[in-house]
Amino acid sequence: METVTPQCGICKKFYSANDDDGSGLCKTCRPTVSQPLLKQELVQPGKFGVSNAQLIPAMKQAIQEQSPEQLRELKATYFYIFERSIRYLRKDEREYIKMHLGS
Ligand SMILES: [Zn+2]
Repeated sequence: METVTPQCGICKKFYSANDDDGSGLCKTCRPTVSQPLLKQELVQPGKFGVSNAQLIPAMKQAIQEQSPEQLRELKATYFYIFERSIRYLRKDEREYIKMHLGS
């Protein structure tokens, strides 16, 4: 089976298809929970737009900061991805969203 080598949307380096999470970014450029994004860059769109890979760290950060306002804003802006991303969160994080956003 032939696999397409993904190329990073930021540094343009090719990276292993095994590291591909659909974000269009290599492991180095990808935002992670251990490197929280700046607030004004809470969600950085990847090569193919915003996906779980961008939204999940932003959601986790909003929960860490106890900011239901940020969560509501993320949900309003990225409703479909937001709903799909909830299942990738920890149980306590899901409960935080349920408690504050009532979904
Ligand atoms: Zn890169």
